[in-house]
Amino acid sequence: MENITFKIDGRECTAEKGKNLIEAAKQNGVFIPTLCHFKNIDPLGTCRICSIKLNGRSIAGCTIQVDEGMDIQVNSTEMLDARKAILEMMFVEGNHFCPSCEKSGDCAMQNLGYEMGIRYTRFPHLFVDRLVDARPERIVINQNRCIRCKRCVEEVKTKDGYAVFNSTNRGYETLIGIDYKQEAKLTDREAVRAMEICPTGSILVKGKSIAKPFGQRKYDYGEIGKTIPFDKAKINQTNENKKIVATTSLAGCFGCHMSLLDVDLGILDLLEVVEFNKSPITDIKKFSKRCDIGLIEGGCCNTENIEVLRAFRENCDILVSVGECAIWGGLPANRNTIPLEDCLKEAYLNSLTSEDNETCIPHHEDIPKILNKVYPNHEIVKIDYHIPGCPPNANHIWSVVKNILFNEEFSIAYPEFKYD
Ligand code: SF4
Ligand code: SF4
Repeated sequence: MENITFKIDGRECTAEKGKNLIEAAKQNGVFIPTLCHFKNIDPLGTCRICSIKLNGRSIAGCTIQVDEGMDIQVNSTEMLDARKAILEMMFVEGNHFCPSCEKSGDCAMQNLGYEMGIRYTRFPHLFVDRLVDARPERIVINQNRCIRCKRCVEEVKTKDGYAVFNSTNRGYETLIGIDYKQEAKLTDREAVRAMEICPTGSILVKGKSIAKPFGQRKYDYGEIGKTIPFDKAKINQTNENKKIVATTSLAGCFGCHMSLLDVDLGILDLLEVVEFNKSPITDIKKFSKRCDIGLIEGGCCNTENIEVLRAFRENCDILVSVGECAIWGGLPANRNTIPLEDCLKEAYLNSLTSEDNETCIPHHEDIPKILNKVYPNHEIVKIDYHIPGCPPNANHIWSVVKNILFNEEFSIAYPEFKYD
């Protein structure tokens, strides 16, 4: 087999002529992320996460066979950001509620989100309501989490060679269908393999829980010593001896506040350098001075949340969204796929605890008006920094806060950067 030389990010590399670029790059110590590429499968080029530049043109890397003299850009600032944007679009295009997903911790897509340092998405979430099909014998397929990579279509076959999954429509309308007759022929082991092939939590097997305790899941720790890239937070230097911190919980569960306190005795060191103003921690209800930083837990589900968020923006130099609910709506945003009227009827008229023949949905001028959907904070006011997690790790929260307030260097360890 003929060996050829080519360049990745200006560095000379060698590989067999015609070798797939993803493999050739790996052989030369360069990692190109991908979600659709899979051993033994011909390149699909569906997810585009492996986008690179070849001789100045943007293209899916998995579709390239290396050849003499190729000049490839993988990790330029432009391509790193382009790949991050593609992954962000995947997150917003489906319903990725990681904290409530069976695949969380074992999900290749979620892991890439960590690796690329995605803290929030630059695009609004669509909150789709697609089919969750539990009719097959063993498999449940959740179209809301499917990224249409088509790994399952290519790879999951019965013993007599029939495809179990198929793809209909094109582009945004693409749907992954399942042939019930062929699916019924799969053995238990083959059904589990289909679940493993899927890089998201779209394919699940009935009765095969994949829930594992934290620490035993595939992506809990990442590579040893791996840190997550982060955009340096804006620095605010005031002359105050102590920095002033405000916190609030909007449509959240107070879990992020619990995590804030989870630095244990570290809170005593913290109190040497910061003072809390308006916060459920102090029970101070109104701002009594300007604050250096405001930490916001929860997103906006009613008019009061919006009022409080705007007051925080006015009274704090820096605003930080803490946790998944603040960043994109989180679990309360599960209602975004359902019309508000149906949610209210379900909660007040038809729930298990409703009185028989209940007709009243509570409303009064003193009760904040509920919004048509739950909004992430950055869609209401400018947010300066986002700390992901459900809840975020306590060390991560305070590292960011100290970085912002005291210009201290820090890095985010992989296990501290979590969406679940
Ligand atoms: S764990 Fe994976 S599939 Fe599940 S919601 Fe998160 S990104 Fe989506
Ligand atoms: S079900 Fe999974 S493997 Fe199949 S196309 Fe969707 S994301 Fe890919």
